[in-house]
Amino acid sequence: MKQTILFPILALVMFSACYRPFKQKELVFSVQAALETTPVESTEDAADDICIWIHPTNSEKSTIIGTNKQQGLCVYNLQGELMYNYPIGRVNNVDIRNNFLHKGKNTTIVTASNRTNNTISIHSINPNGTLQNIASQPIQSNLPKIYGLCMYQNKETTYVFVSGKQGGVEKWKLVATPYGVKGILENTIQIGSITEGMVADDATATIYIAEENKALWKYNAENLNAPRKLVAKTSDLNFKDDFEGVTIYKKDQNSGYIILSSQGNNSYAVFDRETNKYIKSFVIKHGNIDGTNDTDGIDVTAVNLPNYPKGIFIAQDGANTDGDLLKNQNFKIVDFRDILKELE
Ligand code: CA
Ligand code: CA
Ligand code: CA
Ligand code: CA
Ligand code: CA
Ligand code: CA
Repeated sequence: MKQTILFPILALVMFSACYRPFKQKELVFSVQAALETTPVESTEDAADDICIWIHPTNSEKSTIIGTNKQQGLCVYNLQGELMYNYPIGRVNNVDIRNNFLHKGKNTTIVTASNRTNNTISIHSINPNGTLQNIASQPIQSNLPKIYGLCMYQNKETTYVFVSGKQGGVEKWKLVATPYGVKGILENTIQIGSITEGMVADDATATIYIAEENKALWKYNAENLNAPRKLVAKTSDLNFKDDFEGVTIYKKDQNSGYIILSSQGNNSYAVFDRETNKYIKSFVIKHGNIDGTNDTDGIDVTAVNLPNYPKGIFIAQDGANTDGDLLKNQNFKIVDFRDILKELE
């Protein structure tokens, strides 16, 4: 009899002795989504990555270009409503760059890693936000299984980096021809193991590469063979594999934040853009709109948009609910002021 009472008390005392204030919590804050996009058409794991197109003359007409990795590209307006759907294949990651000279015109280019045929899809954006295929021929990757993708631009040239499920990364140079845009393979490196999320910082000629089960690495975008730097390990405090999407909030030419989806603990880690020092993590919790979990792709912009003077952060949501209903996956949009408030 005595023992049955003693045991729970003893357990409680032992637990209290071991218990330390939850260190992680001090560096984790939460925000809520301001809005969410129309769910993708495909069920199960389908929404994956996004990029943001800033309209050159009217920021209200800017769009969010998302991937439905079962089907194709989806274009949303800034209210999150689906505008256009392009069933071009199982596109996984997507990225964007302006100022590509094509047929004598300053062109905005959107590229995507297409798993249907192991290629890089290339589109331009028309002023109304529609996409147009401008590849001269399919850019066929040599990686066994194409997976992640990001773009990089220096003063002269625009590049596409693609990563593979076996840890390879290819660097492709985009070249305009009278027949469309073609790709020239410049380099292939091995990261180590499965690699998806990547982002290039054009200002510093660096590329951040997430090796899903290990670490976030920083490479020299001009010379991938130069020694890499470790930014964070999946085993570090506040982090949990997989490491997924990575994006850059550009406050000005050089300062800002690197943000990484730490998928295993449903959080987003923020680093200083210049020093790469870890600052804090945040979660998107349930509010008027459901919170996020299991996030793959993320993207962010610091551009002043209608209702969002400091820009927006976008995250793919692994389980999109509306009340008790489980809907198809979608993307959540956060007012970046809510994030900045906690960082500064
Ligand atoms: Ca997923
Ligand atoms: Ca992206
Ligand atoms: Ca992944
Ligand atoms: Ca993914
Ligand atoms: Ca959710
Ligand atoms: Ca929802």
